[in-house]
Amino acid sequence: MAKIFCVANQKGGVGKTTSTVNLAAGLAKIGQRVLMIDLDPQGNATMGSGVDKRQLELTVYDVLIESASVAEAKVHSEACGYDVLGANRELAGAEVELVQLERREKRLKTALAAADADYDFVLIDCPPSLSMLTLNGLCAAHGVIVPMQCEYFALEGLTDLVNTIKQVHANLNKDLQIIGLLRVMFDPRITLQQQVSEQLKGHFADKVFNTVIPRNVRLAEAPSYGVPGVVFDPQAKGSQAFIEFAEEMVQRIKTM
Ligand code: ADP
Ligand code: MG
Repeated sequence: MAKIFCVANQKGGVGKTTSTVNLAAGLAKIGQRVLMIDLDPQGNATMGSGVDKRQLELTVYDVLIESASVAEAKVHSEACGYDVLGANRELAGAEVELVQLERREKRLKTALAAADADYDFVLIDCPPSLSMLTLNGLCAAHGVIVPMQCEYFALEGLTDLVNTIKQVHANLNKDLQIIGLLRVMFDPRITLQQQVSEQLKGHFADKVFNTVIPRNVRLAEAPSYGVPGVVFDPQAKGSQAFIEFAEEMVQRIKTM
């Protein structure tokens, strides 16, 4: 049975897409069968997985409006070693269209049920909003991975997300839980980051992943080559951290 995780944080630029594609690549590298779903109309996770969003015939949009199955719409990224259910600008329209449809927030969940046996992990890259698209991700998932930078306002921004997750848990998806907070773009030389990191551990205890992702330019360069850092430069510090994170996730799901 596939374990399904949303990578979510309603703030933009916090490392959601980088975390999704690198975790996907890390998991693939250690032998896991992975489907990466891009739920952001910007399509960055699609492009960053070596799939040209402009060339796609079918995307997650077609799956959400139920004109295609996951198996029909997914493509395999040879370079990255995982399947991609891609997105492009067309997905922006789904927001409005879904509102008028039945079971509007459960569309992705229903579609994924048919693909359950094909994967060990499904990772969903969410857009930077608590929208109908994110809601579809949260309804389909067993858990949420929250990438965050250890900055002054980090905790403040978390409240909205935690409340949304609580509401979805109470009303729509009893399985949903926060799996963990992932500290990303971490720079240990910055005292404030160390302080916030300690605060996070004090506050959220074992809901903070052990793995810390450092700020590493190789991770930022990789998308322009159409692959995650883990594929672009496996020896880079950031890539090594994501491979370690993949191993931590494999351990985590054993206790879920
Ligand atoms: P989001 O999906 O939350 O908007 P991204 O993953 O696109 O965030 O990251 C925002 C920017 O930060 C991108 O330019 C990305 O390359 C860069 N970035 C993300 N993680 C790291 C990291 N660990 N080290 C260096 N740059 C990073
Ligand atoms: Mg993104």
